[in-house]
Formats: sequence, structure tokens, C-alpha cells
Amino acid sequence: MANSDSENAGPGTRLAGAGRRPEWTGTPDHPGAVVAPPVWRASTHLYPDVAALRAHPANEDGKFYYGRRGAPTQWALSDALTSLEPGAAGTVLYPSGVAAIAGVLLTVLRPGDVLLMTDNAYEPSRVMGRGLLADFGVTTRWFDPTDPAAFEAAICEKTRCVLLESPGSLTLEVQDVPALAAMAKARGIVTVLDNTWASPLGFAALDHGADITVMSLTKHVSGHSDCMMGSASAGPDWYRRLRLRAQGLGNVVSPDDAALMLRGMRTMHLRLEAETRSATAIAEWLAARPEVSRVLCPMLPGSPGHDLWRRDFTGGCGLFSFVLKGGTSAARDALIDALHLFGIGYSWGGFESLATPVDPQAIRTASAWPLAGMDADDRFGVRLSIGLEDTADLIADLELGLRAWEEAR
Ligand SMILES: *Cc1c(COP(=O)(O)O)cnc(C)c1O
Repeated sequence: MANSDSENAGPGTRLAGAGRRPEWTGTPDHPGAVVAPPVWRASTHLYPDVAALRAHPANEDGKFYYGRRGAPTQWALSDALTSLEPGAAGTVLYPSGVAAIAGVLLTVLRPGDVLLMTDNAYEPSRVMGRGLLADFGVTTRWFDPTDPAAFEAAICEKTRCVLLESPGSLTLEVQDVPALAAMAKARGIVTVLDNTWASPLGFAALDHGADITVMSLTKHVSGHSDCMMGSASAGPDWYRRLRLRAQGLGNVVSPDDAALMLRGMRTMHLRLEAETRSATAIAEWLAARPEVSRVLCPMLPGSPGHDLWRRDFTGGCGLFSFVLKGGTSAARDALIDALHLFGIGYSWGGFESLATPVDPQAIRTASAWPLAGMDADDRFGVRLSIGLEDTADLIADLELGLRAWEEAR
């Protein structure tokens, strides 16, 4: 039996078995004949006769219907993601992480509603609040991710939904998700969590109070920087609504991409473990450097949010930021340009390391930057996505970068 449904099994065991239903990996004569769910390329699904076409159980999960509802490759990926998320009844796939966030918010919100969004949210989520959602009559307000009292004060009668991102993918504040979700639930507000950073392996979102959990599969699940997709998982009620709205919006993912995601997913726990180990060592090294004001890495003792991370999370990942002492934006750019092993580009969670500048002051509206306790001159940040290169080589590369920063500042 390939499909391990045991919630007690370890992450490696669950990832190895996930989504491999015998009927999706074989023929009626030889169920489960192949290991990986094959790529079913299909727009038209055929029916044996007109009566079956008329009478088929329209729109049931895991039943052939029409290409927009997917075929066994996409079903296997959805099934696999659902099996990783305690409390989930199903998972909807979207062509990107941004499409997943839009699909969820367009399911939950109605004209006149207010959305509360964490101030450390991924920038395209913020843009969605000001743009798409505003166009549809939804008002978005932002709140300080580290201040539950400010969150409670921001709630009004029209608040329908809260979008959390913990830790935030630029400045890495960990939110008290159980406390915020409990406050929201008490007022009938729907909690949506962007859980891309931790994945279900590092944070059980629904178990900690979220109603809907969203991931950009482009990051850890793919893991190889060659494929984009998003997902939303939820209990039975929200899952059904998300599914129908996604169908109405025409969201569908290709079976080739779903197969790539399934392939990446099998090794996700190993990559996350290795990246967490390496990122923590690099964060420690940076924290001891005189050029660095603050390391923003939840796994690092003393870093903001570390206590909440220890309390709620079962793992980390390779994504964190650090802030330089004083200096200039140009000197920070010189640091990044001097790196040989870190690519300069958006995204993260791939096998290869990346570095990008972080300038939160340009986008925040509800919380301070620099963070409390940081010097007002300490503003220029660098975000690192630590990949699978050897830690010592990455540290040597960062040493070159810091030398270039010293020379340029
Ligand atoms: C990248 C990212 C997204 C969007 O994902 P895409 O697949 O690139 O559309 C959403 N949330 C977070 C936190 C991200 O880092």
C-alpha cells in the first residue's frame, strides 16, 4: 500500500506515499503499477454514451468530467497536499501563489467587507488589497504583525477576513497565529494564512486556528526553480467554496507542472532540513559580524519571533534577512553584486541560493521600520534564500560581500 494515510508517520514517510493512489498509478489489471503518478494530458474527457454524459456525477472530486477539473495527475498532487495538512478536507491548485491568494480572497470577501492584512505581507498581496480588492468594493487595512492589541483594535463590524503571513517573507516577524485566529474566530472573521515559509511540515496551519492555508508551491514544494503553482487547503466547508470559485474563475494547472511538483515534493523534508541547518549557521555567523545590526531569522535564538517559532513550529527553512549597520543603499547593492554563489532574483526555496535587497520602509504603513530596538540608521536589509550549496562556501562568499560593503560605504 503506497498511500500512507497515517497521521503519525514521519514527514519522509508521508511524502513518499502521498498522492499515490493505486487507481492513479496503474491500470485496472495492475493497479499501482508505476511509482510516480503519470502525466495525464487531457482537455476532453470521454463518456461511454450520451446517457453517461448526461447522468455523470457532475463535478465530483476524483471523477472524470472535463479538463478544467483536472485529471489524475492534478488530483494526485491535491490529494498529496491534503494528506500533509492536518484538518484539511481538500486542496485547490492555482497557476501561481498569487493566483491562490486572489482565488481565496475572491471566495471569502464581498463588496463592503473589510480585509485586515498583516503589514509584513508579501508585496503582491498588498497590491491586491489596494488594487483588485478595492476595485471590487473591499477595503483593506493593515496592522502591526507583532501587536495583537493593535490587531484587536483594528477589527470593525465589517471585518470579514484576516490575511496573515507568518513569518513575513521579507522581515520575518513571526505572528501569534493561535491568538490572532482565536480573536478573529470569536467575531466570525475568517483567518487566511500564507504558510509558504514553513509549509505544512514546519507549521500545521489549520491545527493552529487558520481556516484556510495558502502556499506558493513555486518555493519549497517545487524546490528546483523550474515551475510555478499555488495551493489553498481547508476544512470541508471552505474547501467546497474555494473549489467552486476556482472552477468559476477558470483556474487550472497543467499535468506536466503537477508532475514536477509531485517530484519536488518527495524530497522536500530533506531540502528543508538541510536549508534550515545551513541558514541557521549562516545567521549565527552574520550575527557575530560587526557590519551587521540585526539578523531576522526565526530559527536564531535572540532573533525577533524566535520564542513563538519555538512554541508553534516544527521546522524552518532557508529564507531569512539581515540588516546592516548604517551605510548606504549603494553600499548594500555593492555587497549583493560582489556575491558569486548567490543569484540576484525574486523567489526562494530553490536548491540555489539567492540574495535580494530589502527596503521595508517603502511599503509598510502600519508598523515601524527599523524595528524597535534598532538604530534609526540601520535600514538597509538583505534577504537570503539559502540553498543546498555547502555552508562554508556560502559564508566565504558573504565575507567577500561584506568586504565590498566596507569599501563602498
Ligand atoms: C512567492 C510568494 C507568493 C507568490 O507565489 P508565486 O507562485 O510566485 O505567485 C506568495 N506568498 C509568499 C510569501 C511568497 O513568497
